[in-house]
Formats: sequence, structure tokens, C-alpha cells
Amino acid sequence: MRAIFIAVGSELLDHDKIDTNSLYIARKLGEKGILIDMKMVVGDNRDNLSWTIKNACKRSQLVIVSGGLGPTEDDITRESAADALKLKLVFNDDIVADIEEMFRVRGIDMPQINKRQAFVLDGAEVLSNSAGTAPGQYFDDGKVRLLLLPGPPKEMIPIFDKILEEKISPLSNFHIYKRILKFGGITESEADSMISGIYRRYKNPITTILASPGLIEVHLLGRAKKDIEEIKELTDQVAEDIREKIGEYLITEEDVRIEELIIREMTRLGLSLSVAESCTGGGLGNVLTNVPGSSEVFLGGVIPYSNELKTGILDVKEETLKKHGAVSKHAAKEMAENVRKLTGSDIGVSITGIAGPGGGTSKKPVGLVFMHMSTPEKETGEYRIFPGDREVVKIRTINYCLNMIFKYLKHDKV
Ligand code: AMP
Ligand code: MG
Repeated sequence: MRAIFIAVGSELLDHDKIDTNSLYIARKLGEKGILIDMKMVVGDNRDNLSWTIKNACKRSQLVIVSGGLGPTEDDITRESAADALKLKLVFNDDIVADIEEMFRVRGIDMPQINKRQAFVLDGAEVLSNSAGTAPGQYFDDGKVRLLLLPGPPKEMIPIFDKILEEKISPLSNFHIYKRILKFGGITESEADSMISGIYRRYKNPITTILASPGLIEVHLLGRAKKDIEEIKELTDQVAEDIREKIGEYLITEEDVRIEELIIREMTRLGLSLSVAESCTGGGLGNVLTNVPGSSEVFLGGVIPYSNELKTGILDVKEETLKKHGAVSKHAAKEMAENVRKLTGSDIGVSITGIAGPGGGTSKKPVGLVFMHMSTPEKETGEYRIFPGDREVVKIRTINYCLNMIFKYLKHDKV
């Protein structure tokens, strides 16, 4: 089965907002063997939207629309869909009761305009929205399948996930088998030159390599119309061959981020961590604290951007800075050791570098970053000259450090 996606909202046509809902939906549909043929962005205009929905429903077995289900005048998805399919909108008392209850809990009366959200396409199923006031709607008369979803991703995702499992996934005539392998400490071109000989031989499974600064993901997608077993075996074989080639860089095969694995593993081992970040300005601490439960292991950190703070709070020796400079392996080592002492953590990680665009010299070019990890077992000092602009250098550095911590937990702690 194939689908068309329509993002609704004039703000998405402007210069500063982008449709991300389609990315999520395409990924989840893809996992079920359903491909998106077209996606469109339509402003808040009833004629344009009803024309788009009407034509999409003529061309595709499944049409998914997100946005425009709010209570205000510019939210016209309900009316446009009714125009497109020549359906009535039916007022639903239960929806109003739900919305009124939501406002009552917050201690306010429901504004009258919210009643607009209670109109449902005749024959459509109401998809309740626990994160907001706009319910979704799913219309299926055997010929047309139209799914209306709220625009805010936090509201859209739970509704979509539920209807995908319950109603859409069973319609798929493809079976899908997916393997994801995540690697760190290897570049995209290095990884590709080592594994392309393996995956190029096959059109099925499809292999995609996704690279973000410092992290590589290899996705293998096997598809079969009837029996998935054969393609599953082949996909597993390709995954094994890839593991054999670049397994030493493998972080995980789970669909989780490396920082989540770090927090999980450190919690299990009862270890604590602190950071001293100069050029990343707290970015490593930020990534780690984005993980729920990180307070179990992450004690905190220092951002000693100036030399005064490096020598002051962190006790880096004046002499070290004079002799080797603030961007040096010596300064990095003292920063990691001292933040560990200062906080009493098991592991201390430090970062000092030149993110650019200025500040580089022939000896210490832009992108040069020293990273150090101090642990009870060992001291690990590393440096890299990262390519990219200021932001990219910072992201690469953070990912490199995450890898360094992860490798230590994997190899030295098990
Ligand atoms: P709406 O459901 O049209 O009231 O959308 C409300 C808000 O949801 C918008 O202002 C956007 O911030 C967000 N939003 C709507 N559509 C999308 C989309 N396709 N991708 C990401 N965010 C969206
Ligand atoms: Mg809108």
C-alpha cells in the first residue's frame, strides 16, 4: 500500500517553520511496508486544501493530513475534508464533554470557539487526544481512507502510533524486516569503503547509511510480499557480515541513543560522572541531562571558558597554561582529574579546543580539540582536528566524548 501526506498550516510555508510530522510518519509507515508517494504542504485555505485532499484521495489508498484541527478560524481541515469527500460534519457531544473536562481540570471554563473541534466527518472514527484539545479523525468507507491528525508533534505522535497499529498496519501487503546498527568512532566514508562490497550485492534488503557528525547508522530493510523468512535470513546475514567488518566500532543495535545507553549502563554499575567543558559550553552535560533518570549518575559540571576559571575553580596550574596553553593535552588532563576531585565523581570528562572560526594557528588549527577522561582504572587523553564550522565542531566533540565514555563502560567495566 502507498500513501500521500499533507501538512496543513500557513506557518509551514513561511521561512522559519518546517514540517517534521511527515518525517516521523514516513519512518513509522516504512517500518510497516507502506511507502509515501507524495507529500505536500498546504496553507490555511479551505479551497486549496479541499482540492488537495480530493485529488489525493483519488490517487492514493491512504491520505494522511496533519494540522488545522485547532479551534480558531484558520483551522479549516475538518471543513475542507468534508468538502472534498462531500460529507456532512456531525456535532459530537462527547468531544465537547472531554474538552470541557480538560479545561475544568485547569480551572477555566471552555472558550466557546473550542466547540468547533467537536465537528466530525460523518462516519469517521474519533481518535482521542490525551495531550491536547483537538481529537484526530479516521474515515474509511472501503474506498477512501483519510486520517486527520493534530499538528503539534506531541499530540500527533500518540494518536498516529495507536491508529497505525490498530487500523493501518493490517492493511499493508508488505512484510518488513529491519536491522539497525549504530557505529561511532568511524567516518561515513571509512565505514562505506569497508562495507559497500557487502551490501551493494543486494537490492533487497535496502541498505542506507545515515551519518551525523560523529555517529553512523546502517539501516537494513528487507521487504517481502508473502513470506518474510527468506529475506529475514538474508538481512541477518548481511548484518552479520557488516558486524564482522566494522564490529569494533559498533555501539548498539537497539533503537536508542548512545547517551541513553551510557546513563543506563552507569546506573547499572553505580558509577557517577562529571564534566569540565570549555569549547562545548555545557553541550555534553546538556545531552546527558536530556536522558530521564540521568540525575542518578550525572553529578554536574563546570564550564571553565576563561583561563581564570580554569585555574580558579578547576585548579589547572598557571604553569600548565603558560607552557602548553589552554588548548593542550596537559590542560585537558588536569581539567578532567580536577573536576573529578571537585565533584567526587567516578569519571571526569574534559573538553578544551578551538571551535573557530577564529583563534586557530598553524600549530593549533581550528577544529583542534583535546578530550580527556579520568577514571579509577585509567587516564585516556585524545585529540582530534574536527572538520566543519563552529557548531559542527562542537557536535562532533560531544559525540566523540560520548563514544569515549561508552567504550570505557563497554571494554573496561564489564
Ligand atoms: P495546528 O494543528 O494547525 O493548530 O498546528 C499547531 C502547531 O503545530 C503549529 O503552529 C506548529 O508549531 C505545529 N505543527 C503543525 N504542523 C506541523 C508539522 N507538519 N510538522 C511539525 N510541526 C507542526
Ligand atoms: Mg494551523
